[in-house]
Amino acid sequence: MPDDDRWYLPSFETAAEERLHRKQRLAAGFRLFGKFGFEEGVAGHITARDPEHLDHFWVNPFGMSFRHIRASDLIRVNAAGEVVEGEGTVNTAAFAIHSAVHAARPDVIAAAHSHSIYGKSWSALGRLLDPLTQDACAFFEDHALFDDYTGVVIDPEEGKRIAHALGDRKAVILRNHGLLTAGHSVDEAVWWFVTMERTCQAQLLAQSAGTPVLIDADMARHTHSQVGSHVSGFVSFQPLYQTVVREQPDFLD
Ligand SMILES: [Zn+2]
Repeated sequence: MPDDDRWYLPSFETAAEERLHRKQRLAAGFRLFGKFGFEEGVAGHITARDPEHLDHFWVNPFGMSFRHIRASDLIRVNAAGEVVEGEGTVNTAAFAIHSAVHAARPDVIAAAHSHSIYGKSWSALGRLLDPLTQDACAFFEDHALFDDYTGVVIDPEEGKRIAHALGDRKAVILRNHGLLTAGHSVDEAVWWFVTMERTCQAQLLAQSAGTPVLIDADMARHTHSQVGSHVSGFVSFQPLYQTVVREQPDFLD
C-alpha cells in the first residue's frame, strides 16, 4: 500500500487482523451491492487483495447471493486461480478480470464490477462520462473506456487488456458490459462503483431531458481534486458502511 494512504486508513498489528478487516469491508460491499440492486444472476464480483499473500485475493463464492454474503463466506484465490481458503468455486470471469487488475496495479487493494443497470446502459454508448455534476467530476480524466466486447471474459489475456485500458485510473467502462472500479481500500473501490453507477444514471436522465451544460475542464479538474481523491472515496463510503452494520450486522460473521 502506498505510504501516502497510511494517514487515513486504519492500521493493524497483524496480517490476520488486517485480513479480517478487509473481509468484513468486502462483505459489507456485497450487502450494499445487493441492497442497491446491482445483482444480475451470478454476475458481479468485488475483490480484496490479501494483506499477506499479495498475489492472492478474496472474492465472493460463485452463485451466492450478494445479499447473504458474510465475511466467513468469502474465498481466497491464488495467482493460478485456485481456491486456497474458504468453501466454493471462483467465477471464471472474476479471476480473469480481477487477477489481471491486481497484478497490473500493485497500489490497488480492491476492485469492483457488476452488471448494474445504469452502468451497463451507459456502457452501450461506448463513450466516457461527461463532467455534468459535482459527483461526476470524481471521474474527470480518471476513467477509461474498454472499447471492445468479446463475450463473457474467461481468457486471462482479455483480463490483461482490460487492466491495460484501466491504466492508472480509478475506473473503466467495459463497452456493452458494465463498470469496473478500483481503489486503495475496499471502501474506496465500492464507493466509486456506487457513485459511478449513479453518475451514469444522472447523465442518462439529463440527456433524456435536454442538452446538459458541462462543467468546464479547469473546474472539473479542480473538483476532481476535492471529490476524486483516495481519501475522499474512503470517507464517502463510511455512511454506507454504518447503515449496513446497523441493518444487517450478520455480514460481520
Ligand atoms: Zn461482468
